[in-house]
Amino acid sequence: MSTIAENSATVLERIAAASRTAGRDPATVGLLAVSKTKPAAALREAAAAGLRDFGENYLQEALDKQPALADLPLVWHFIGPIQSNKTRAIASHFDWVHSVDRLKIAQRLAEQRPPERGPLNICLQVNVSGEASKSGCHPDELPALATAVSQLPNLRLRGLMAIPEATDDPASQRAAFARLRTLSETLNLNLDTLSMGMSQDLEAAIAEGATWVRVGTALFGARDYGVASST
Ligand SMILES: *Cc1c(COP(=O)(O)O)cnc(C)c1O
Repeated sequence: MSTIAENSATVLERIAAASRTAGRDPATVGLLAVSKTKPAAALREAAAAGLRDFGENYLQEALDKQPALADLPLVWHFIGPIQSNKTRAIASHFDWVHSVDRLKIAQRLAEQRPPERGPLNICLQVNVSGEASKSGCHPDELPALATAVSQLPNLRLRGLMAIPEATDDPASQRAAFARLRTLSETLNLNLDTLSMGMSQDLEAAIAEGATWVRVGTALFGARDYGVASST
């Protein structure tokens, strides 16, 4: 087995164990392989190990890799910060966007989504840790944003996403993920998606209801940002 295949088996075991502990069906927790900075060959290896959903943060890097993988039935998720001038390409080349945090971006994605590709799946990114430096809308702004986005054409509002402040304390991890779950429940919009949990904290996220865990390092190894595109 390749290292990526071994890592994938290990991550799937972690997801299964955390799901059992939480009394959840592991099939309700999707594994999103976060492949930023990794070459197309690494994604191909992950696909051979059975992974299908890939998350990318940098648009140009993703657009460079996608043609090399066009023979595979992959599902592409955009998970990075979004500048207005990138929305047209994101709307055309991705199946999901997890990182929408303002209405203007959602409106542009709705206008620019090619209708023949079907609705673009959207998660609203929420800042649940209150750090000024992190992206995501403020929890107080979420109800109005969610209502507005849910009414846009060519988009399907699926749920919420968060990247809480990193901490080793499982109780603090769970508290942040619980905040996202509670926010989702209070919206009353029939959302079915909570995108939360990464290599370090996926167990806590699954305990609080994650339906996508976004895992990079535990699948592909540490990242070398020296080779990454910044766009
Ligand atoms: C990089 C990244 C991840 C993966 O983080 P790891 O700690 O490597 O698992 C998940 N989500 C987002 C939004 C990321 O940018």
